[in-house]
Amino acid sequence: MPTPRTVVVTGSASGIGAAVAERLRDQGDRVIGVDRAGGEVVADLSTPQGRAQAAQAVLDLAGGHLDGAVLCAGLGPMPGAERTILEVNARGVIELLETWRPALAAGSAQAVLIGSNSTTTTPFVSRKAVRETISGDLDRAERRLRPKKMAPPLAYATSKLAVSYWAREQAVRPEWVGAGIRLNVLAPGATMTPMLREQLAGPQGRAVRNFPIPAGAPAEPGELADIAVFMVSPAARAMVGSVVFADGGTDALLRGDHAPAPVKARQLGRYGAAMVKFRRR
Ligand code: NAD
Repeated sequence: MPTPRTVVVTGSASGIGAAVAERLRDQGDRVIGVDRAGGEVVADLSTPQGRAQAAQAVLDLAGGHLDGAVLCAGLGPMPGAERTILEVNARGVIELLETWRPALAAGSAQAVLIGSNSTTTTPFVSRKAVRETISGDLDRAERRLRPKKMAPPLAYATSKLAVSYWAREQAVRPEWVGAGIRLNVLAPGATMTPMLREQLAGPQGRAVRNFPIPAGAPAEPGELADIAVFMVSPAARAMVGSVVFADGGTDALLRGDHAPAPVKARQLGRYGAAMVKFRRR
């Protein structure tokens, strides 16, 4: 019998995270769930202390060895929750993964961060706010969520852009892929979980219903979980810094020619310079 893999799943009590945890357990993995209630580790990821406590408790339970991590904990764009959105959705991913890095390296682990197609479909997001969220300056980032009436979707898209950029920029570094760790992002679109149901029932319900989904309906949480389970498995070793959209076609519909996109040689560093020389020859 092979030793079961140890995989940490945040947001394991509900929605996509619960479906991921269930599937991993069904296939024989040991899951360490983290959530506000109902996980092996009960913690509030909206504060630095809660995140530090959660990160350490997971390391203790895992004995310093993690084979995988799926970071699902998050909040939707609810009015009044803007700061908490930045704290949980972005810092609750970056800080945990940074603390777990040695344990992830010990397991040559795959880590899956949950992004969102709101990254490419939300207008008026400040790039500075995204950078400040990545560096942990949430006071400044929060001040850029303007106008106030748009602050909830701006906070949400900012948090998800922050984890997506962080993952892509870190994934290729010696500390991560050089240490055997794969970082990738799964970007869902509308998915029928308690989070989406809350939005549909809230003041932005009408706007949410108008969000176009070429596939016809929101995905089920299990459909996203199936993809996350693949991405956290060794079968996905070739994926490094990938952002996988699984959104029923919304991003393709609204941003069809956005990615892949042609690139300028000067954006490609030494490789680009070599291409310029080759072209001139
Ligand atoms: P959900 O509300 O069903 O689950 C989110 C989980 O995160 C809950 O169990 C909740 O308790 C936990 N959580 C929230 N705040 C926390 C905190 N402070 N400390 C610890 N745990 C906390 O939502 P879901 O739809 O399954 O969302 C999972 C992920 O998918 C989120 O990152 C979300 O942003 C993302 N996402 C969801 C959708 C969608 O339409 N449902 C779309 C795109 C992205």
